Amino acid sequence: MSGRGTELEDFEATVRQFFEKLPAALDGVDGDVARGKHYRSLLVAEGLAGVSYPVEFGGQGLSAEHQAAYDRASIELLPPEESVFGIGLGMALPTILGNGSDEQKRRFIPPGLAGEEIWCQLYSEPGAGSDLAGLTTQAVRDGDEWVITGQKVWTSGAQDSDLAILLARTDQTAAKHAGITMFVLPMHQPGVEVRPLVQMTGAQEFNEVFLTEARVPASWVLGDINQGWSLAVALLAHERKTLGRGVTTSDEAKSKAGRAPLQYDGLVTRARDAGAIDDLTIRQELAAVHTGERLILWNAERQLHPSIGKLWRTIQGRRAAQLAHVLGGPEAVAWEHDDVEADYWAYHVLNCRGMSLGGGTDEVQKNTLGERVLGLPRGPGIDRRTPFNELPRN
Ligand SMILES: Cc1cc2nc3c(=O)[nH]c(=O)nc-3n(C[C@H](O)[C@H](O)[C@H](O)COP(=O)(O)OP(=O)(O)OC[C@H]3O[C@@H](n4cnc5c(N)ncnc54)[C@H](O)[C@@H]3O)c2cc1C
Repeated sequence: MSGRGTELEDFEATVRQFFEKLPAALDGVDGDVARGKHYRSLLVAEGLAGVSYPVEFGGQGLSAEHQAAYDRASIELLPPEESVFGIGLGMALPTILGNGSDEQKRRFIPPGLAGEEIWCQLYSEPGAGSDLAGLTTQAVRDGDEWVITGQKVWTSGAQDSDLAILLARTDQTAAKHAGITMFVLPMHQPGVEVRPLVQMTGAQEFNEVFLTEARVPASWVLGDINQGWSLAVALLAHERKTLGRGVTTSDEAKSKAGRAPLQYDGLVTRARDAGAIDDLTIRQELAAVHTGERLILWNAERQLHPSIGKLWRTIQGRRAAQLAHVLGGPEAVAWEHDDVEADYWAYHVLNCRGMSLGGGTDEVQKNTLGERVLGLPRGPGIDRRTPFNELPRN
């Protein structure tokens, strides 16, 4: 075996050991945010944060093979609190690494990797979801700052966030994709109001965010003014890749955090408990869930178009949740919140539909795959060349 192979195996073993010992290290720390921050600080202390990020930006400066080894070793052991940093680690930081100035990389990446700053994504608006380029939040230059006014919605984790990746319109007279700029917005300021949205699961994971003359330093514009659309698309690709990795959280912990599809092992136990393990239809569905789970992990290791993993995982999530629903009967959607076991299953049964929306809907992923991978003609886009302020709007 080559020295390189041994070194990678040793690295993978170190990562695995870290994550195996983590639950004990987090014992006694309460709250998702506090536990998440403590976990990231331990990762930094162990020299494992930001495996392939350059050392000057707070990473370990290791190879893409080391990153892949880290992903392999950690993917089934990541703590649920990883999701607190999902937007920072999975979307904002890679976009800044790829498109930010050195000054911005030094400012944002080290605290992001260390879990000292939590990020959210201010993309969607009440009138701009799938049609993201139709966003109307405005940014106007005022001296050394930009002044932002508008409304965002479905902003996951805004209630805990310190910073946001924000898309805003900086030129009303340009065509709709051409007048958008990407900013980093400090969330803790008077012009930012976060209003929670409670979901049918009973959880409160996303928010409306009202921006009333919120301020961004001019040096916190990412990329060039009016060129934000290409960065927006780059971030979406990171988002879909992250979601498609199928981060798994332990069923044992009965965690509701994260976006993991329900796991095969837990469903087998649930089928046993329901006295349905010998039912042939149930067995067939369990086999399908098991196969899907493996495919997600294998797909994550291949360099596929990011929409493939995202789409596959939401289909898997619905299939697994449907099985949990069948096994649970009426209790699966009519349950007591203080019954932890029932709450866990009901959460996943009710939440799985939303997974097909967050990060772009299934239909949008299919459009993307049709156009970008299969080379099918684009849908008609009469609004692509018209100045934004001349487009008809409701
Ligand atoms: C759990 C969750 C978390 C989220 N987190 C965030 C976040 O942190 N930050 C953020 O900015 N946003 C977030 N979102 C918002 C998400 O990105 C949008 O919900 C999504 O892009 C869809 O937009 P929409 O809800 O406006 O639906 P619409 O765009 O109005 O779509 C309605 C329906 O029409 C279909 N449709 C629309 N256009 C087309 C088309 N061209 N072809 C075929 N079908 C089409 C859609 O597939 C959908 O079924 C989150 C959403 C969810 C559910």
